[in-house]
Amino acid sequence: MSRPIVAQISASALHHNVGVVRARAPGCRIMAVVKADAYGHGAALCAPVLGEAGVDAFAVASLEEAQQLRALGLERPIVLLEGPFAAEEVDLALALQLILVVHDWRQLQWLEARAGAAAALFFLKVDSGMHRLGFDPSALTEIYARLRAFPAWRVLGLMSHLARPDTPADPYNQRQINAFAAAVEGADDRLEGQHSLVNSAAILALPEPHYTWVRPGLMLYGLSPFSGRDGADLGLQAVLSWRSKLIAIHDFTGGEWLGYGAAWQAAGPRRVGVVAAGYGDGYPRGAGTGTPVQVAGQPTVTLGRVSMDMLFVDLTDLRADLGDPVVLMGSAGPSVESLAGRLETIPYELSCRIQARVPRERV
Ligand code: PLP
Repeated sequence: MSRPIVAQISASALHHNVGVVRARAPGCRIMAVVKADAYGHGAALCAPVLGEAGVDAFAVASLEEAQQLRALGLERPIVLLEGPFAAEEVDLALALQLILVVHDWRQLQWLEARAGAAAALFFLKVDSGMHRLGFDPSALTEIYARLRAFPAWRVLGLMSHLARPDTPADPYNQRQINAFAAAVEGADDRLEGQHSLVNSAAILALPEPHYTWVRPGLMLYGLSPFSGRDGADLGLQAVLSWRSKLIAIHDFTGGEWLGYGAAWQAAGPRRVGVVAAGYGDGYPRGAGTGTPVQVAGQPTVTLGRVSMDMLFVDLTDLRADLGDPVVLMGSAGPSVESLAGRLETIPYELSCRIQARVPRERV
């Protein structure tokens, strides 16, 4: 018997969420962002389902992530959002037929210096105001001039990323949208006009244009990028149901101290359950006493400190027995978004934290 912890991944929810992207961005091509192991949901499991749902490409952050997808036999285009990080990676990226996102002069030089890069296929990343990756729009004229020496390169279009789309009314969005629109307006004829700007929050809340390629990540997993709202409020379905089981139960008469640091004391007769889940699985250690959790279909809370492999839950007044199911977060339990709000983080971080030792299971 292995530890009973599992991250269940709903294939039908993934399909549904792809449908929501389509409805919000009709006619656009979908670049499904599956970096960071599909935001912790398991890329090996999610990417094939997203492929079945008809997404047009996958986006990853590293060559290793791209290789993982190719090893699964996925033949759809894969966009490398951040690399190559070194000249040597260019050959491998091209051998894997990746679509690059060229965002700095070094990457451009690596391509120019490599005979094998004749078949290069890439987006040009422009910095529209986030100041993370991308060329300043003023550099584009020189880049377009340099492209002329490489007629075989295919440059799909311009790409940029928004800094504040999770607060849609923020004027900073319009500033970036305008900067990108100006760059698109002045784009060289060499570009194939396949531009890309928007992620989940922008797809859900900002007006058109969404350009050719939309780049949803979080919303594919059914999660909301907007503080105080769940994916369900946006018509999405949670893909994750992170589950484990009760592996021990203690009946206290009152006065007993619980777990590391003896951080919680039974004020009277209490029933306490031990769950096989801890920070070694990626459950946040900050989610001690009082964090919502579902036990045998009933809402309750954690008690005391979270250990590496175990945590405590309050079973007082619950009908619960050894081996009963516990939902830590996601579908049929507390939403990832509500826990993120409580822990002052974002749903992205909570799902990305789920460790490799937690098996992902398609349901
Ligand atoms: N595009 C880029 C460049 C990103 O870095 C990310 C995510 O970090 C996305 C798209 C997807 O964003 P989201 O998960 O908010 O949809």
